[in-house]
Amino acid sequence: MTSLIHADQAGFFGEHGGRFLPPQLEAPIAEVAAAYAEARQDPQFQADYEALLADYVGRPSPLFLAAGLTKHLGGAKIYLKREDLNHTGAHKINHCLGEGLLAKRMGKRKLIAETGAGQHGVALATAAALLGLECEIHMGAIDVAKQHPNVVRMELLGAKVVSVTSGGQALKDAVDSAFGVFANDYADTFFAIGSVVGPDPYPSMVRDFQSIVGREAKRQILEKENRLPDALVACVGGGSNALGLFTGFLEDESVRMFGVEPSGRDLGVLGEHAATITLGSPGMLHGMRTLLLQDQDGNPAAVHSIASGLDYPGVGPQHAFLRDMGRVDYVHASDDETLAAFQLLCRTEGIIPALESSHALAHAIHLAPTMSPDEVIVVNLSGRGDKDIDYVAERLAK
Ligand SMILES: *Cc1c(COP(=O)(O)O)cnc(C)c1O
Repeated sequence: MTSLIHADQAGFFGEHGGRFLPPQLEAPIAEVAAAYAEARQDPQFQADYEALLADYVGRPSPLFLAAGLTKHLGGAKIYLKREDLNHTGAHKINHCLGEGLLAKRMGKRKLIAETGAGQHGVALATAAALLGLECEIHMGAIDVAKQHPNVVRMELLGAKVVSVTSGGQALKDAVDSAFGVFANDYADTFFAIGSVVGPDPYPSMVRDFQSIVGREAKRQILEKENRLPDALVACVGGGSNALGLFTGFLEDESVRMFGVEPSGRDLGVLGEHAATITLGSPGMLHGMRTLLLQDQDGNPAAVHSIASGLDYPGVGPQHAFLRDMGRVDYVHASDDETLAAFQLLCRTEGIIPALESSHALAHAIHLAPTMSPDEVIVVNLSGRGDKDIDYVAERLAK
């Protein structure tokens, strides 16, 4: 039987994934793959990782019954997996610490990465500061200007932020720039990818580091409800928080799963959404084969979402595979539905969610009233929304 969880020897999930690299990156990425294959079998590595998750991140994160929201919607019970309560306020710290520990094990001095909105950069700079590693974050010049608070955070944490002025001065150019530096300096440097994307082994490795979320959620829901949940809901940018929750339940056939993509301002217009699985077609991006939103020339399309952490034209290859297998339903929520969900959680639960996570909430809000009160939904609350309040205030004032 095909595994829903594990990639094949060549790093493929069905027809997606793999490792497609320019020659100068083949050896450095093969070194990461070999080191990770060893580390994941090493009980000491796992113990070191789990100790950081407990004492530094503050895990396990609570599984919280959102009684006010449940009552308001009238239907299935909604539980929130509170990744927003992690140190740094989101799930990204889970895999950044894993990648940082692996870099140290490999004898690297420095972490390097690209960042779009800056959230991966901040989480990685945090891990680097804790672990005593240097950190260099490449960021498009346009994003440096737009995301000033995250640039300040990264610098306070001791990272060097490189403003990339080539090409379109955006995420794609930051990726090229960071990979360029890495290819020249990989003896000392570890490339840390921020989601379940990129060449093998990154999609599997980042998923493994995030899978703590679903393992905890399973234990917690069995304690609280004495049964498995009926549905899981998570937002999908690259797809790391979703796979983090889903992995522990993939082989439980009774558990339905929903990945929520941003339909942005208009699902009918390329450039106005980031619904990659809903509307993408197979293509090549960042060293992997996956579903992509692409223009007529096959270049990654411009994308939009109210949540900057979700505006990525590709998606993790395992998600494309889970779509093909029919195991996960991929649905979407618009900017407006997301804003409404954001406000509803603030008022019913006293929790300000990230706009990314609000996409998952928006779907749960549709789903819950269609289910019975003895059914259970678990929503991954991937991050807190403090970072989004100025933007939301401005939008609501209009
Ligand atoms: C980055 C981010 C996401 C999207 O990334 P995934 O890899 O799809 O999880 C979702 N939520 C928050 C809070 C984020 O910071």
